[in-house]
Amino acid sequence: MRTMRLPKLNKLIEVMQIWGVKVFVHWSVLLIGAIILLGAVEDAPLVFTVLGAYYGVILLHECGHMVAAQRKGCAVWSIELYPIWGITRFAEPYSRYDHCIIAWGGVVAQALVAVPLLVWVEVFGYTRFQVVNAILAIFGFFSLSTIVFNLLPIRPLDGAIAWGLFPAFFKRSSTRPAKREPGWRSWR
Ligand SMILES: [Zn+2]
Repeated sequence: MRTMRLPKLNKLIEVMQIWGVKVFVHWSVLLIGAIILLGAVEDAPLVFTVLGAYYGVILLHECGHMVAAQRKGCAVWSIELYPIWGITRFAEPYSRYDHCIIAWGGVVAQALVAVPLLVWVEVFGYTRFQVVNAILAIFGFFSLSTIVFNLLPIRPLDGAIAWGLFPAFFKRSSTRPAKREPGWRSWR
């Protein structure tokens, strides 16, 4: 039996709760954000929007894991945001199949937002407002590129687990464990 590992809350700052799940931000996120903003004071609204949208994409991705985990009956403990990745902490899934579904949750959530935005930009083009264009570009093109990257079958990327969905789907009835193991899981 593995011991429970609690997140290092002392380095994390609670910023909000989403459906009862606490969202933490690592201190380095705030420090890097402050340094970038100080270096671009004249463009502060735009830079602030870009930073917000960038972490918004990571949060959206983690929320996708959270929703998928909750739908599969796994308790979700927290979401943590770091400078270039996020972690969703949740209880051990019941099966490998459930695990794969949870791994897909992150990129599916991103795609549900990115695809309509990309269609919008393709049909109507960008707007006259830089701030709106930045949001369209980050939740659209940037997010799509991170989806592709994240689905590479390399640990610790989601692709390392996600592509096991199809073999797991055919084997799930025979591989379903009888007893649930305690433990923690986290995904980028
Ligand atoms: Zn992920």
